[in-house]
Amino acid sequence: DDQTTTTYDIELIPGDGIGPEVVDAALPLIRAVADDHGLAFDITRRDWGTEYYLEQGEMMPEDGVSRLADSDAIFLGAVGHPTVPDHVTLHGLLLPIRKGLDQYICKRPNVLFEGIETPLQGYDAGDIDFVVYRENTEGEYADIGGREHRGFNHETAVQSALFTREGTERIVRAAFEAATERDGHLTSVTKSNAQAHSMVFWDDIVEEVSEDYPSVTVERLLVDAASMDLIRRPHEFDIIVASNLFGDILTDIGAQITGSMGLAPSGNIHPGDENPSMFEPVHGSAPDIVGDGVANPLATVLSWSMLLEDVGEKTAATALWDAVTNQLADGAAPRTPDLGGDATTEAVVDDLRSRL
Ligand code: ATP
Ligand code: MG
Repeated sequence: DDQTTTTYDIELIPGDGIGPEVVDAALPLIRAVADDHGLAFDITRRDWGTEYYLEQGEMMPEDGVSRLADSDAIFLGAVGHPTVPDHVTLHGLLLPIRKGLDQYICKRPNVLFEGIETPLQGYDAGDIDFVVYRENTEGEYADIGGREHRGFNHETAVQSALFTREGTERIVRAAFEAATERDGHLTSVTKSNAQAHSMVFWDDIVEEVSEDYPSVTVERLLVDAASMDLIRRPHEFDIIVASNLFGDILTDIGAQITGSMGLAPSGNIHPGDENPSMFEPVHGSAPDIVGDGVANPLATVLSWSMLLEDVGEKTAATALWDAVTNQLADGAAPRTPDLGGDATTEAVVDDLRSRL
């Protein structure tokens, strides 16, 4: 027996739709990588999600978050169901986990891989390579507000955004740190012209924190301009930092210009050891292709690579990431239909195993 095996406790929520398909297809590959690097995963599987909700009336048990809290990391497939409203899945599972475990960074790399076509003209592999740092615990998702009937034909709804100094400072600082380890360029995206309280506050904090990072160049963009520029000049972005809502929107643009939702990985990160971080593909449950066996597993594999990096297993993380890079660059390799091929989920994973 290998005495040096390091074991990680992983909480696995395969979830709904294609979630279990991509998660289960990827597991043998993940175990193989672990094996190659003297690692093991002790996996606890949770059947939470919309099916659970349709039976139990809640997305996960009441103490769900605390059941996850002692693990080394969490992996989530996807949650969502055509008959369950999105706000139920969001408020019943994703937000409680992100908030409860204080995963205040949503990190989403956007990379144009060799062999992948972008809808943008004139861009080649490597031209697009940026990371979005989205604030993940407050802002526009703070869930403050309500609806009121005030008599006939007079109804109001209020939805407030909450920006705390601590919450804003820590995401901004994390983004600056990341920029120093990359190309030293940070873009802060706001809507300061229209939202003069919260977004000007955000700008002030970016200004303050920037003094600690003199080597990082800072650019400020309004979210409308940023959306345009991600299409017009995506090669000029390195690290983007944005609020919860704006970060969400920008990362969907990022996923599209880098080829497919099926390729986009993400991490909900709590830096430090108190809480586990959670990794998940950016895509949802994709009800239109459920059961066809053709869901692209690469976003899941790349998310596992991010998980490995987060727990400190850089070499294993790189092995997994490189296997994907390698496969995509190989014109003869199997591809799922979203990438223009006709291969199955299984075939793509099997091929990855041969590239480890
Ligand atoms: P949800 O409500 O769970 O977010 P959705 O209907 O928004 O689901 P997404 O999962 O976000 O759907 O996907 C949007 C589109 O991208 C769908 O047409 C889907 O088929 C496609 N897609 C998403 N993920 C994948 C994947 N892994 N492989 C192939 N196609 C995908
Ligand atoms: Mg969706």
